[in-house]
Amino acid sequence: MFGVDEKLESIYKEVTDRNTGETEYLQAVKEVLASLPPVLAKHPEFYEYNIIERLCEPDRQIIFRIVWEDDKGELHINRGFRIQFNNALGPYKGGLRFHSSVYLGIVKFLGFEQIFKNALTGMPIGGAKGGSDFDPHDKSDREIMRFCRRFMTELYRYLGDDIDVPAGDIGVGQREIGYLFGQYKRLTHKFEAGVITGKKLNWGGSQVRTEATGYGLVYFVDEMLRDHKKSFDGMKVTISGSGNVAIYAAEKVTQLGGKVTAMSDSKGVIYDESGINVETVKQIKEIERKRIKEYTKFHETATYYEGGNIWKIKTDIALPCATENELTKKDADTLIKDGVIAVGEGANMPTTPEGIKTFLDAGVLFAPAKAANAGGVATSALEMIQNSRHDVWTFEYTDKRLKEIMVNIYKTCNETSDEFGSPGNLITGANIAGFIRVATAMIDQGVI
Ligand code: GLU
Repeated sequence: MFGVDEKLESIYKEVTDRNTGETEYLQAVKEVLASLPPVLAKHPEFYEYNIIERLCEPDRQIIFRIVWEDDKGELHINRGFRIQFNNALGPYKGGLRFHSSVYLGIVKFLGFEQIFKNALTGMPIGGAKGGSDFDPHDKSDREIMRFCRRFMTELYRYLGDDIDVPAGDIGVGQREIGYLFGQYKRLTHKFEAGVITGKKLNWGGSQVRTEATGYGLVYFVDEMLRDHKKSFDGMKVTISGSGNVAIYAAEKVTQLGGKVTAMSDSKGVIYDESGINVETVKQIKEIERKRIKEYTKFHETATYYEGGNIWKIKTDIALPCATENELTKKDADTLIKDGVIAVGEGANMPTTPEGIKTFLDAGVLFAPAKAANAGGVATSALEMIQNSRHDVWTFEYTDKRLKEIMVNIYKTCNETSDEFGSPGNLITGANIAGFIRVATAMIDQGVI
């Protein structure tokens, strides 16, 4: 599986045995390990100090029960998670996901990815992730509030602005961050702004944090296109999803002259040949919290496909911004046949391993998630800086910092892929560059 590297093979086998059934986690580990043989050949110290085995076993796994009351007074039980994976580079950092699919294997995959993603940003942040199998759909505002408060009542003792700093992910936006922060404040009797990021602007949030993952993705892909003498200008772009990442990716693509013609949610797909109006999507998703289907009520040029597959639509650039493993080999084959030139992953691990291989073999430019979607967490780190200094930056300055970070990540991945013998393969570049930064810090800080 990992070429001639038998040691790597046996490490992966041990990880598989120890984490049975955690499919997504094992998929994420396998992808990173597959990039490592050329690094390990140059740096035997990483084997000598068991760095890979250590990286694959989280520092701490916190699992707790949440009991909450619905509006009718009935009680419900959910499971909460926080995986503090690695803090070699800084306090544990990573979002919280509230979705019915959440279980240990998902949170661990996200936490593992977060270690390397955070390392790539160049900011002083370690890797973590958390969440719950709570499904926020169709819950009232009060129910969400009660759930968030109970979640934080369990988690607060493990957090701190220099210990572990959560943020949002799927199902956790500014509203939930507000309820979580409010409860942390009540329990600790401290306005410790830097304990959570993604806060609202008027109480410790940062400019650009809402836009950051989507904008960052487009800055990254733009740099990749530029490097190949291409640009977004005049390109047809498909963006799966219609959450925070998708919406702001669509906004930036449109600003750069691209035309977003398709977006989706878990129920269906909208297609608008004349270009999707991002303000309408914001109104439907952020304010009314309704389904994307509503879009056709406002724009008669649009068509809605219930349960449709967005990757069947012909496009120049594909930005998967919904969820893991949403783009398969079959989808990749269709997109390639239709002439796709670039793929940028806005969600975490949205393309299956077979899908990725298909794109790479066909020479499609491929921007991997842990590099391309790092803008969100990078801006969280900028929020932490402002909180620690009791400072507030302007939109322009924060956006400039975000853009610099994304361009730097692109350059680092590209140069690293050259250095380790896989020119242009940004997956290998991202995995190796992130790994070396963390592994070196672990050795520097003493291995026993
Ligand atoms: N959930 C986001 C991610 O996947 C952001 C995490 C954060 O800001 O801490 O990177």
